[in-house]
Amino acid sequence: MKKSYDLIVIGSGSIGVPVAKEFAQRGQSVLVIDSLSSPGQGQDKKAIGGIRATHSDRGKILVCQRSIEIFSHWKELYGDDIQWKSNGYSFPAYTEKDEDMLRDLMKIQQSFGLNIRWLSREEYRELNPGITMKGLRGSTYSPEDGSASPLLFTQSCYFKAVEYGAEFRFNEPVVGLTIEGGKIISVKTEIGVYHSANVLNAAGAYAREVSQMAGIDIPVNADSHEAGISEPVKPFMGPMVVDIRKGPDSKNIYFYQNTEGQVVFCLTPDPSVWGIDNRGTSIFLPKIARRMIAIMPMLANLKVRRTWRGQYPNTPDGFPIVGKMKELDNFYQAVGMCGQGFMLGPGTAELLYRSVTDTYDPDDAEVLKSFNPYRSFGDQEMFK
Ligand SMILES: Cc1cc2nc3c(=O)[nH]c(=O)nc-3n(C[C@H](O)[C@H](O)[C@H](O)COP(=O)(O)OP(=O)(O)OC[C@H]3O[C@@H](n4cnc5c(N)ncnc54)[C@H](O)[C@@H]3O)c2cc1C
Repeated sequence: MKKSYDLIVIGSGSIGVPVAKEFAQRGQSVLVIDSLSSPGQGQDKKAIGGIRATHSDRGKILVCQRSIEIFSHWKELYGDDIQWKSNGYSFPAYTEKDEDMLRDLMKIQQSFGLNIRWLSREEYRELNPGITMKGLRGSTYSPEDGSASPLLFTQSCYFKAVEYGAEFRFNEPVVGLTIEGGKIISVKTEIGVYHSANVLNAAGAYAREVSQMAGIDIPVNADSHEAGISEPVKPFMGPMVVDIRKGPDSKNIYFYQNTEGQVVFCLTPDPSVWGIDNRGTSIFLPKIARRMIAIMPMLANLKVRRTWRGQYPNTPDGFPIVGKMKELDNFYQAVGMCGQGFMLGPGTAELLYRSVTDTYDPDDAEVLKSFNPYRSFGDQEMFK
């Protein structure tokens, strides 16, 4: 008799791996299929490891708060060091307009119970010595946000998933979904055909193509971003710095120092660079270096080890797409994670388990409304 799983997950990345662990740990049979050779080889390993709950929407806040609980207790719970660091996030303001906007958003975030406050310029400089004071008006500071290594977390989560019984098939691109009677009855790869009660699309930057195999279009588009990492140096930084000012050809930049002492950094290009091209560019490093040195001059002496390029799987409004499709009885999406798939992963995995098994928490309806695949996509998340 052919084997059938409770869940097939397409994609073993920031979402697929925590989902596999969650379902397997709770006794469900799971198969994860990925076209690449091992877990986390898509966009997951491109993430710089920033983790925050300080968003502008309660749904996203709730999921990320749960993720932070999981990341911050991972070592006690599962024994592996994932380089969790409770360094916090900061959004310094250099213009009156930015200060007003950040303070307004902070009020909303505080009303959702988030630990975030306004620091004077002097208080902020104590936390992030070396930050330029010229024009600095102060900064938000959210001490419970943090960072961890996507490489270490996803590997650890993968080994836990396998220990709990999840199966993984690598080097096997999914090429088709067979639909009969309003359901997906099998998932076809270049190598085999697999059966399952439910199917989850967690294919990241390729989520639209996978969804189209089921005849459903979803607005997820690959948006290229570059990042880099320095040599390790003695700890000198406090919270992650998110400089929201526009630069020439760039929107925000963000950087922090990890537990190894390396400074990890990323820039949002302006205009966006759509499409999947993983070749790093020669313009990225000079551009971001100029911006980082302008805000923290001491960084001029730091040596950069490497840079890389990956994609945010973006949606038009900056919110993920998570939930069951109306067109097919057993097809779920957990896609469109934008620049936050790593931080959303563990919380989303639990949300999906509750959705698939119909064991909802009281807050889930609100979260699923924010992430609803059938929304108008007309709103805008403030910092995607
Ligand atoms: C430079 C950069 C910095 C970032 N920094 C952060 C950060 O600090 N914090 C944060 O939270 N996020 C960050 N992100 C975003 C984060 O990396 C993504 O949101 C996240 O990895 C998306 O997770 P995912 O599981 O949807 O996709 P992925 O992790 O890419 O996983 C999808 C998987 O699906 C597989 N797949 C696709 N199509 C098929 C198919 N047909 N058959 C089989 N397998 C398939 C892929 O091979 C891949 O392994 C950053 C991204 C970039 C590029």
